[in-house]
Amino acid sequence: MKHLRGITARRILVTGGAGFLGSHLCEQLVADGHEVLCVDNYFSGRRANVTHLLDMPNFELLRHDVTFPLFVEVDEIFNLACPASPVHYQFDPVQTVKTSVHGAINMLGLAKRTRAKVFQASTSEVYGDPVVHPQEESYWGNVNPIGPRACYDEGKRCAETLFFDYHRQHGVRIKVARIFNTYGPRMHPQDGRVVSNFIVQALRGDDITIYGDGSQTRSFCFYADMIRGFRALMATDDDVTGPINLGNPHEFSMRELADLVLDLTGSSSRIVHLPAPQDDPKQRQPDIARAREVLDWAPTVPLREGLVETIRYFDDLLSRTTARADA
Ligand code: NAD
Ligand code: UDP
Ligand code: UDP
Repeated sequence: MKHLRGITARRILVTGGAGFLGSHLCEQLVADGHEVLCVDNYFSGRRANVTHLLDMPNFELLRHDVTFPLFVEVDEIFNLACPASPVHYQFDPVQTVKTSVHGAINMLGLAKRTRAKVFQASTSEVYGDPVVHPQEESYWGNVNPIGPRACYDEGKRCAETLFFDYHRQHGVRIKVARIFNTYGPRMHPQDGRVVSNFIVQALRGDDITIYGDGSQTRSFCFYADMIRGFRALMATDDDVTGPINLGNPHEFSMRELADLVLDLTGSSSRIVHLPAPQDDPKQRQPDIARAREVLDWAPTVPLREGLVETIRYFDDLLSRTTARADA
């Protein structure tokens, strides 16, 4: 560790650092003066998300797949590598399981050798299609182990198992966050998740695709609140391991989300209904009592406000790509 400008600069590895959440995290850690090593295989992330950091002397970018071992010297690891959108994680399900499971083993092996603290980006998907509502951390979940979502859900569940076994067996310092649906600038325009889909469809005047009748619910957290939560959890004492829910408890139906996006974009897109995907969870809302108590954390950005910023991002991105196509 180095002491720079009054802060203790740490060597921090961010896997999946060129993705949506990873790139925001890298940006903040670099701004705070840490030595950041961003590792990504660009499966669902983009180099463009971090190119603005490449000139910084305390930022390094490495193309690497976390299913292979990685030998570097670090003080902290944020393990975010894994496609998060159902379209992407179901594209190559075997690779998704390998990323979660082999990736966790490699990052835990690295943490064990270097004595680094390691953060795991787990997910509300560990609760599956929940029969307990809202979901608190003590709930064990309702997951189909052989369905199309299992590569992600069970991969992340096994990663949690590995984190707690490395902690108990080898004393590795772990921080497990269960992240609920998070959105914001730098999501991939073809990410396939609902917020980016609806916004891109509305801005292009395409049909808004609601899967099923639109009564299913999700609770959406703005990225800035989420990154603050990651950092608060990483900063806790060693006895705080999680799992800890991070998300915004305000719950919306997909129909309400579509109406809000149409309202905010002023789009005249039509809403169409497509078949609901298999095993699509019907409801999801985090109980964040533990995060409030342990981290003194709660989201502050309401959906409407976060959507306005996200719409501005996609509007700008789409007009730049259209301008390029016209040139
Ligand atoms: P994302 O797809 O934008 O980012 C994931 C990044 O991981 C991408 O840059 C991708 O290229 C990289 N990656 C995938 N497989 C890899 C591999 N084998 N080796 C190296 N890099 C690899 O998604 P995101 O929303 O930023 O999600 C980040 C993390 O947070 C993921 O682990 C995800 O499961 C978790 N999470 C996100 C949400 C959410 O709503 N955004 C919810 C729950 C959990
Ligand atoms: N590992 C790694 N980087 C390191 C240390 C370990 O990628 O700095 C990998 C290592 O290749 C192994 C995995 O992490 O496959 C788990 O390591 P551990 O020490 O737990 O297991 P072992 O090497 O004893 O099988
Ligand atoms: N969804 C939808 N239209 C879309 C994309 C998704 O209605 O174009 C629905 C999807 O069926 C699910 C919800 O929106 O019920 C959230 O989907 P997403 O893929 O964003 O996240 P997850 O299902 O992993 O929570």
